[in-house]
Amino acid sequence: MNNQAKMQVKLIDYASAPLEKLYAAFRTCYSADTPIEIWEKIEAEKISHQKIREFIGERLKTGHASPLEQVVFWFGISGVSRSLSHQFVRHRIGISFEQQSQRYVKFKQDKLAFVLPESWSRAGLDDEFSQLLEHTSALYARALKAGIPAEDARFILPNAAPTNFHVMVNFAEMLHICDLRLCVRAQWEIRRMVALMRSEIKKILPEIAVFLQPKCGENRMGYCDESLSEWEKCPLGKVRPHKSSLFEMYELHGKRKSRALSDDEFRAVEEKEQL
Ligand SMILES: Cc1cc2nc3c(=O)[nH]c(=O)nc-3n(C[C@H](O)[C@H](O)[C@H](O)COP(=O)(O)OP(=O)(O)OC[C@H]3O[C@@H](n4cnc5c(N)ncnc54)[C@H](O)[C@@H]3O)c2cc1C
Repeated sequence: MNNQAKMQVKLIDYASAPLEKLYAAFRTCYSADTPIEIWEKIEAEKISHQKIREFIGERLKTGHASPLEQVVFWFGISGVSRSLSHQFVRHRIGISFEQQSQRYVKFKQDKLAFVLPESWSRAGLDDEFSQLLEHTSALYARALKAGIPAEDARFILPNAAPTNFHVMVNFAEMLHICDLRLCVRAQWEIRRMVALMRSEIKKILPEIAVFLQPKCGENRMGYCDESLSEWEKCPLGKVRPHKSSLFEMYELHGKRKSRALSDDEFRAVEEKEQL
């Protein structure tokens, strides 16, 4: 089947001096210097690249996440399915999408391209999948010829139809997308695409790409918060803990029983003077 779409992910561009911008954004919060003074020091190279990297590395271990929104990437993504795109566009904060239109683009090939999941080949049903797509292609072409507008002809296109994106995403949202979509609970195709986005960023910014992990990664939340049965099935379950084991360790080694919060505990939080 030669009309299979091929996924392509390319980092088209990124906002200039990302590490310096991150440094200056964080520094502004913790320094008596003004942002202008901080930038003068960066530009005069009074702050070494090593120091910038170390400072950012330390800040990235904290929950102070808003400066990460000041680092921005642009991606070109093609050959992904409409099943993927439906999931991808659910992300709504810190990301901006332009997607190929099925209204304005008429797909004129005799055989429409499509994304074929490997599971269909493994099940030996790929030929039937292909035959159905050929039938769909022929009917789509007839519909256009009969004067049905592309926006209506597309009603017979399947989830397997390929699509293209031009995407702008900031680093804070990229971390969140990796948390969710590099997890094996995510669907294989979006997981593959996000893994490729990560490896594109890693080529140019390895210092911060190490933080692009599934949520259980040592640089992110650190543990799995999915169900125990999902964790048991996950290949990362061999190296990353499940939340239940953290509670067990707390009780065993901390020699404290954890329990539900009572009204007394709420009062302690609400009234206790902060030291
Ligand atoms: C494994 C998996 C299975 C899924 N299954 C389903 C499903 O069966 N059905 C379905 O409909 N969807 C499903 N989804 C999609 C999911 O519900 C979300 O739509 C998707 O993860 C993107 O949402 P987000 O909150 O991460 O958005 P993002 O825009 O990526 O969120 C970025 C951050 O902003 C926060 N945020 C965003 N908007 C608001 C807001 N209005 N108020 C407060 N905080 C906000 C988010 O909590 C997050 O911290 C699934 C996702 C995954 C990863």
